[in-house]
Amino acid sequence: MNLTNISGISPAREKALNQAGIFTPADLALFFPRAYIDRRTVLRIGSLQGAGEKVTVTGTLASVRESGFGRKKRLEAVLQDETGMVKGVWFKGLSYFKKSLKQGEQVAYYGTVKRYGRYLTMAHPEVEQLSAGDENGHNTSVNEDGFTGIVPVYHGNQFFKKTYITSGLLRKWILTVLDQLSFQEFLPEPLLKQLNYPLREEALRWIHAPQSPKQHHAALERFKFEELFLFELSVVTLKRDVLEKAPGNVMAETRPATHRFFKETLPFELTEGQKSALGDIKKDIRSGKQMNRLLQGDVGSGKTIVAIGAMLMALDSGYQSVLMAPTEILAEQHYHSLSRWLNPLGVNVRLLVGNQKKALRDDLLSDIAGGTAHIVVGTHAIIQESIRFHRLGMAIIDEQHRFGVSQRALLREKGDRPHILVMSATPIPRSLAMTLYSDLDVSIIRDLPPGRKPIITRVVREADRPKVYRFIEEQLQDGGQVYIVYPLIEESEAMDLKNATEGFRQISAEFPDHRTGLLHGRMTATEKESIMRDFSSNRIRILVSTTVIEVGVDVPNASIMVVEHAERFGLSQLHQLRGRTGRGQRQSYCLLMAGVKQSKEARSRLGTMEETTDGFKIAEADLKLRGPGDFLGTRQSGLPEFRYADLLNDQFLLEVAKENAVKLLQTDPDLQSPELNALRRVFIPYLREKKKFFRMS
Ligand code: ADP
Ligand code: MG
Repeated sequence: MNLTNISGISPAREKALNQAGIFTPADLALFFPRAYIDRRTVLRIGSLQGAGEKVTVTGTLASVRESGFGRKKRLEAVLQDETGMVKGVWFKGLSYFKKSLKQGEQVAYYGTVKRYGRYLTMAHPEVEQLSAGDENGHNTSVNEDGFTGIVPVYHGNQFFKKTYITSGLLRKWILTVLDQLSFQEFLPEPLLKQLNYPLREEALRWIHAPQSPKQHHAALERFKFEELFLFELSVVTLKRDVLEKAPGNVMAETRPATHRFFKETLPFELTEGQKSALGDIKKDIRSGKQMNRLLQGDVGSGKTIVAIGAMLMALDSGYQSVLMAPTEILAEQHYHSLSRWLNPLGVNVRLLVGNQKKALRDDLLSDIAGGTAHIVVGTHAIIQESIRFHRLGMAIIDEQHRFGVSQRALLREKGDRPHILVMSATPIPRSLAMTLYSDLDVSIIRDLPPGRKPIITRVVREADRPKVYRFIEEQLQDGGQVYIVYPLIEESEAMDLKNATEGFRQISAEFPDHRTGLLHGRMTATEKESIMRDFSSNRIRILVSTTVIEVGVDVPNASIMVVEHAERFGLSQLHQLRGRTGRGQRQSYCLLMAGVKQSKEARSRLGTMEETTDGFKIAEADLKLRGPGDFLGTRQSGLPEFRYADLLNDQFLLEVAKENAVKLLQTDPDLQSPELNALRRVFIPYLREKKKFFRMS
C-alpha cells in the first residue's frame, strides 16, 4: 500500500507529506496528534461557571475581530449557542487564526473558561471545525459522522505548506491505515506486561482514537518508552562491545614525576573531588583498556590539576600527552602555568598553535615526533593537522562543550589509541549527560577548593555607571583587578571590536592612574600573549575584552567582572564569564550592566545570575529556557533527537528504560533468543546508525 492508494492523497499532497517525513502509510500512523478535544461532554454555554473549568462547547462563530494595539493586540472570536456566548482570545498566531476562523462557521472550542466581568472567555482554545470540508470544496464526512469522543487534532494545513491537508483529512487517512495495516509488536511481551503497556497496534488506536484520557496517556508513554529503550540498549551495547573492548596502553610504572609534583610542587592540598577523579583515571589507565572519561566540575573547581596529574602519569610510563583548548588564549595560559610548574621537574612542555614561525614550528614538530616534547599544549590544530607523535598516550580536551562528538572520535583513533580525558564545566542534568556522553565514563568534582567566597552578583543600569566606576576604583586601590567584557555579536565582528575598543578608550580615560589593556580575537597570538601576561602579573589592572576570555582563563587576583550589555548573553556564557573571578582569596563581584530594553527571558536570565552561583542550577535554568537542542547545539553535540520522549520531562522513564535494557542484555547479551527476533530486527539497524554517529566500528 502506497500513500497515494489512500483516497484523498493526491501526488501533490503526497509530496507535502514526504516533506514532513511521512513516506509510507505506516509513517502516517506514527504521526501523532498535537492535541485532543474532549467532546464527550459538550456543555451548554449558559451552564458554564467561568471558574477555570476545562470544557468543550460548540456553536456558531458570531464575530471574529482584532482588537487592541501593539503588545496588547489580540484576536477575539465569539462563539454562540442557543444559551449564551463565550469569547475565544488569541494573542499569538493572529494572522493564522484570522484566516482560519470565519464568521458563521460551526466550530467547537476546547479549553479553560474564565469569567471576566460579564464575559466568559477562553484563551487559546483548541478549535475544531465542525462543518467545513477541506478548502478544495470536498466535504470530509469524517467531521460530520458524529465524532463524539476524544477527538485528535493534527498539525494541519500550515504545517503541510498550504496543501490543504487539514486535521480532519489526516484523521480520516490515519483511521484507514489503522484498519488496513497491522503493526507488529517488537518489545518483549513480559516487559510490556510488567509495565502495563498496550501492544503496539492497540497503542496506535489509543493514540488516534482514544476512549479515555487514560488510554491516550498509557499509549503515549509506551511509545516514549519504546524509543528510550532502544536508545538505552544501544548505549549499553556500544559501551560493552566498542569501548570496553578497546585495548589501551597500560600505565603502571612507579612515578617519579607524578610523585614530585603532588608532594613537592603543588602549593595546596587536593580537594576530595580532585582526588577521586585522579583515582578513577589511575584505575582506567592500568586496566589495559582505553580510557574514555569525562571530567565534570564547575568553573573554578580545579580541573587543570587533574589534567596535569593524568599527563604526568602518562609521562612516568614513557608516554607523551596533549592538552587541547578551544581558544589560543586558553592554550597559552595552560602552556605558561604548566611550564612554570613542570619545567623544574624536567618535563618538556611545548605550545602548538596556528601561525607560529616556520623555524619554531619545524623544531617543534621534530621534537614531537622524536619524543623529547613530553606534553604538547595547543588548540584543536593538534588533531586537525597530521602531526606525528613518538608515543602519544594521553589526550585531554579542555572545555569539551566547545568541541563536537566527531573531534572526540578523531582523537580516540589517533596514533596508538591514547587514553582520552575530556573536561567540561557545563554541569548538565544526569539524563542529558547519559545520552550525550554515552561513549564516556563520568567523574564529577562536586567541591570547590577551600576558602572560596561566593561571588556577589548584581544587575546594574546605565544610571549606576558612576557608582560602578567608584567601586572599581576602590577595588583597584585595594590591589584587585578588573575584567570588562563586551558581547560578541555574531553578525558583526567589526561592531564588537568597536564596542570593546571604544570601551577601552573610555576606561583608560576614566582610570588614568591604572594601566588598562585591550584584548580581542583579531590580535596576533603574540599580542594576546603579552597582554595576558601583563594582566596575570598585575601590571595591567583593568582588562577590557571581547568574549575571547570566556572560558578557562585563570587570574586568581581578579576580583571584578563587569559584563556590558549583559542582556545579550546566554546563561551559561554569563556563568563562565563570572567564573573568571572568585578564583582566589578575594571577595569577588560580578556586575551585569543591562540595557533598558530587555526581553522577559533576558530578565529571567539576569535574575537567575543574581540568585545563584551554583553551576548546576544555572545549567538547569538555561536548559529550561532554551530546551535541550539549543542548550547543547543538537547537531554538534550529538544529542539524540527523540520523537515522542522529552529528555527534560521524561527523566524517570529514561531511568526505567535503562534499568530494563541492562537487565535484558544481562540475560541475553546479543538478543539471541527467538522471542526477541522482532526486537533484534529493529535494533540492528538502529545500532548501526548510532555507531556511525559516534564513529565506532
Ligand atoms: P577549572 O576547573 O575552572 O578549570 P582551574 O583548574 O583553572 O579551574 O583552577 C582554578 C584555580 O583554583 C586555579 O588558580 C588553581 O590553581 C586553583 N586550585 C585548583 N585546585 C586547588 C586546590 N585543591 N586548592 C586550592 N586552589 C586550587
Ligand atoms: Mg579550566
